[in-house]
Amino acid sequence: MKKTSAEKQSATLGRLMKYVKPHALLVVAAFFCAVVSAAASLFAPVVIGESVNYIMGAGAVYYKPLATRIVLLAVLIVAVLVFQWLMNIFAQRAAHLTVRDARRDGFSALVTAPLSYIDGNGHGDLAARLSVDADQISDGIVQGATQLFTGIVTVIGTLALMIRINPWIALAVAALTPLSLFVSFLVARGSHKYFSAQSKVRGELYQKSEEIIGSRALVAAYGYAPRAEQSFGETNEALRRCGFKATFYSSLVNPSTRLINALVYAVAAVMGAVFAIDGKMSAGDIATLLLFANQFARPINEITGVITELQTSLAAAKRTLDLAEVKPQQDSGTVKDKTLGGDIAITDMTFSYTPGKPILKNLNLAVKPGTMVAIVGRTGCGKTTLINLLMRFYDPDSGKIYFDGIDSTDVQRSCVRKGFGMVLQDSWIFKGTVRENIAYGKPDASEDEVKAAAKAAHIDGFIERLPNGYDTVIDDGDGISQGQKQLINIARVMLVNPPMLILDEATSNIDTRTERRVQEAFDALLRPENGVKKTGFVVAHRLSTIKNADLILVMDSGEIVERGTHDELLSRGGVYAELYNAQFSAGLSV
Ligand code: ATP
Ligand code: MG
Repeated sequence: MKKTSAEKQSATLGRLMKYVKPHALLVVAAFFCAVVSAAASLFAPVVIGESVNYIMGAGAVYYKPLATRIVLLAVLIVAVLVFQWLMNIFAQRAAHLTVRDARRDGFSALVTAPLSYIDGNGHGDLAARLSVDADQISDGIVQGATQLFTGIVTVIGTLALMIRINPWIALAVAALTPLSLFVSFLVARGSHKYFSAQSKVRGELYQKSEEIIGSRALVAAYGYAPRAEQSFGETNEALRRCGFKATFYSSLVNPSTRLINALVYAVAAVMGAVFAIDGKMSAGDIATLLLFANQFARPINEITGVITELQTSLAAAKRTLDLAEVKPQQDSGTVKDKTLGGDIAITDMTFSYTPGKPILKNLNLAVKPGTMVAIVGRTGCGKTTLINLLMRFYDPDSGKIYFDGIDSTDVQRSCVRKGFGMVLQDSWIFKGTVRENIAYGKPDASEDEVKAAAKAAHIDGFIERLPNGYDTVIDDGDGISQGQKQLINIARVMLVNPPMLILDEATSNIDTRTERRVQEAFDALLRPENGVKKTGFVVAHRLSTIKNADLILVMDSGEIVERGTHDELLSRGGVYAELYNAQFSAGLSV
């Protein structure tokens, strides 16, 4: 059964409350300040009413008690201001702490989430959930804790004091009030779906801007700008539309409640006048009552305004908190601290990203420690996918991978990843100094270690020519070439020196010389001059670079169609020989 939007909202509210709870003390403090400031502002009309009663007419003014009333009034006004200020501080603090926690959980869920979740959601949208949506929650909490609290206290207090002055008038006011609340409830229910839509479209907008900013060179190259503008414009317009609908809907609340409040005011005035004519009420009482009736209107309007804000916040909260609930990738592995030796066996493995569309089919492979395995094949044949499975980014649908004879699903993911050093197809640089980038996997590495790794990766010359050497701040954007990025990634792996290695070579953008350098650096890693040979997997596009591999796998449409050494495969005259000769005659294997 589908949940109604009210049920969904209260579920989100419940989840949000879990985050507010640890900071409940601050909320209570805010509430206390709200009560005090509301009580002070409630007493002001009473004091004014009394003052009116001390001014009976010309020559009949009681100055002494009047003066005390005036001082009292001043004290009340100061109290209102001070406690309102304190209330805001407490509420802001509670809100920021709550949102910080929700953000923290959202982020840590993101970093442990299955890759399929990240791949399946827009990256900009995920980022929006941690930024704009989280901020919206904080706005909601502040408004809820300040205006909602004072509003409720004022409404209750006003009623109580009015009853004291004249129960009949109070009763009339109380009877008409629910109308106003009912109207705002109806409107709020109707507008929730627009607020949810608003949050969602806002995420999309974020996503689109990020995509365009991230690939501005492509945008320019393909003359995509007008289409980008159009597509952005559509989303922008959609955001305007649901934003408008949401505010339009909720803006109905204010006029309708105001109308009802004006009605309440009129009724109180007329009834007060009638009682006064009968001599049952003093002029001061009427003054107090009318001030109350007026004061009564304000918090109700405010409350309804807050309800709008809370709607937006709840919709945003759902998006942020959904993030925090993403389950980490399942890991039933029990082997934790083992250093893997580099023996890998794959038996009858099948894998698909989308069910029913297998990308790898019935793969069998045995790799002894110290073997350098090269994987070649047409683009899209599943090379990177095979590597994703070796790294346990994904698990096989059927069949097994064994590390040193242990079923891979029994080895914890973190343990598998510690065993591999990888340089991926889209090698990754984060914003930071070159040194930090190289020492990513070993932050406590010494200066000498970092330099030695850079030297071994043949990137030291380039780094030294940078304006600040190892302290130059680089990022994943422009200013550093694909090949240089890969070399920095190789240096990163060199520093950690894991027992198994993966190199998924960038398809293009690398010139032959850099490619050779990457290859040499990688060879040095795999087969250190005085050390044990490592197990390595190399995805190579230029076959000349993998001639010396111990085992070459030729893949086609997710299957291994040929395997053997370079010489064996050449003499067999199959797919590999064909590929190699094609590249050779094209002069690629210089
Ligand atoms: P290249 O030489 O271009 O790097 P590849 O052999 O590494 O190619 P893979 O990246 O393994 O190819 O992709 C194999 C197939 O799986 C492709 O058809 C691709 O479209 C598909 N694929 C890759 N990643 C995903 C994903 N996250 N979700 C769904 N399908 C995917
Ligand atoms: Mg690939």
